[in-house]
Amino acid sequence: MRWRVGPKRGPLHAAPTTTWLLWVALLVVATAGMLAVRGRLDKAHVALAYLLIVLGGSAGGGRRLGLALAALAFLAFDYLFLPPYYTLALANPLDGLVLLAFLATSAVAAELLDRARAEAARAEARAVEVERLAAIGAEALNAGAAEDAISAITSVIRSTLGVARCEIFQGDPPPESLVAWVRANGHPAIEQLDGTVSLSGVASWTSAHAVLVPLEAQGRTVGVLRIEDPRGITLDGPWWHFLTALSYYAALGVERTRLEGEAQHAAALREADRLKDALLAGVSHDLRTPLTTIKALAEEMVGGGDERALTIQEEADRLNRMVADLLELSQLQSGSAPVRPELNAVDDLIGAALQRVAGVAAAHPIVAHVENAETAVLVGRFDLAQSLRALVNLLDNAMKYSPSGTPVEVTVRRDGEWLLIDVADRGPGVPVAERDRIFEPFYRPPGTPPDVGGTGLGLSIARRLAEAQGGGVRLAPREGGGSTFTFLLPAADFPAV
Ligand code: ADP
Repeated sequence: MRWRVGPKRGPLHAAPTTTWLLWVALLVVATAGMLAVRGRLDKAHVALAYLLIVLGGSAGGGRRLGLALAALAFLAFDYLFLPPYYTLALANPLDGLVLLAFLATSAVAAELLDRARAEAARAEARAVEVERLAAIGAEALNAGAAEDAISAITSVIRSTLGVARCEIFQGDPPPESLVAWVRANGHPAIEQLDGTVSLSGVASWTSAHAVLVPLEAQGRTVGVLRIEDPRGITLDGPWWHFLTALSYYAALGVERTRLEGEAQHAAALREADRLKDALLAGVSHDLRTPLTTIKALAEEMVGGGDERALTIQEEADRLNRMVADLLELSQLQSGSAPVRPELNAVDDLIGAALQRVAGVAAAHPIVAHVENAETAVLVGRFDLAQSLRALVNLLDNAMKYSPSGTPVEVTVRRDGEWLLIDVADRGPGVPVAERDRIFEPFYRPPGTPPDVGGTGLGLSIARRLAEAQGGGVRLAPREGGGSTFTFLLPAADFPAV
């Protein structure tokens, strides 16, 4: 669909009456002057004088004046200066040629001059357009805030098109509105003066009350431009192109507002994250000192035979763990936790983990098995300390959530690019609906006993530690009951080259 918008057409061809009178008077005066000295004048003198007047008239008043002067001069030439005088008849047939040549030259000159004038007028209009577009571009780029850019653009469009109102709609318009229609369909719409709406693009253009154009940037409709004038908007040819160019700049302005908004939002989120990390670091540091004092006092009280002090000690330990976990998770989320993968033997990792949980493992025999241990040493590229932390979390959980006395099995194998460490227990298992959610911080499925001593952060820390090394943690139900948590780490070949 194409449509056209523009102001009233300029009076390119119509010269004011005074110009006409002036040039006709000049023709009369010149004719009278030449008539006074007719005896001494050659035909060429007369033709030249008239030609000059026709050219002057064409340049000053346009083609129609030029042609009218040419016709008058033609008649006067014949009637007054070619014998027999005071008649249109010609004594010498060759004079007819002179007259015809004069007429043709005058007509061609009038036409050429008029075209040059029209060309100049068009160039001038183009220059104004370019100037306006440059102004709108400068407004879009220079305005400090994006909102200011939009209002500067609308005011330039309003003054350029000479309309009463210009608005730009961003964001989601009310459903069922014309703005919403234009936005959804990417087509212009016209509100007529009589209140009807034209969506087809075929309308009586002179009676438009408002015009709505989609604003498109990078192939997307980013907003809608609405121009309105109760006196009626005159729609015309080249101005459609102009409006299209204007709306392109408006679209860039809208896009800039959006991007700036997103950037501000992202900056605010980053700042909030930074504050959260700073707060956590500060709180954990400040909490640790009183917790150490509480623990020391509780120990003293236990020594003095106060049984309740044991509970104080346990709770202080729990709080300490939670503070440490929180700090660690926050560092992992912000990417500031140091993870340095290097070549390590998986045996070292398993040995250190079993040692770490030995204190609490009394109720659960741990059976560890490394596949092909007799023939090959399994190695991987991982951070030993951080992987130990993750594996201990999985072992702790396996013991925490399975009945006392049931064994926890640890199996290590290599599968292509991966080292897989399975931690399998005979606990209650995890319902399908909870299998992803238990990896979220603080999430505990309904029914989880509150007294297991966890912080709700163990699995999310384990998974993030694994991911920071290019690995992961997976959960699968175990055949015969229980769960298998698999810790994946990148495998390496030994000796590495
Ligand atoms: P916490 O153990 O402190 O609650 P985690 O992040 O380690 O926090 O675990 C989240 C939840 O996942 C636990 O509350 C528990 O319900 C479930 N879960 C974790 N490990 C196991 C397991 N081996 N068997 C059954 N459920 C488990």
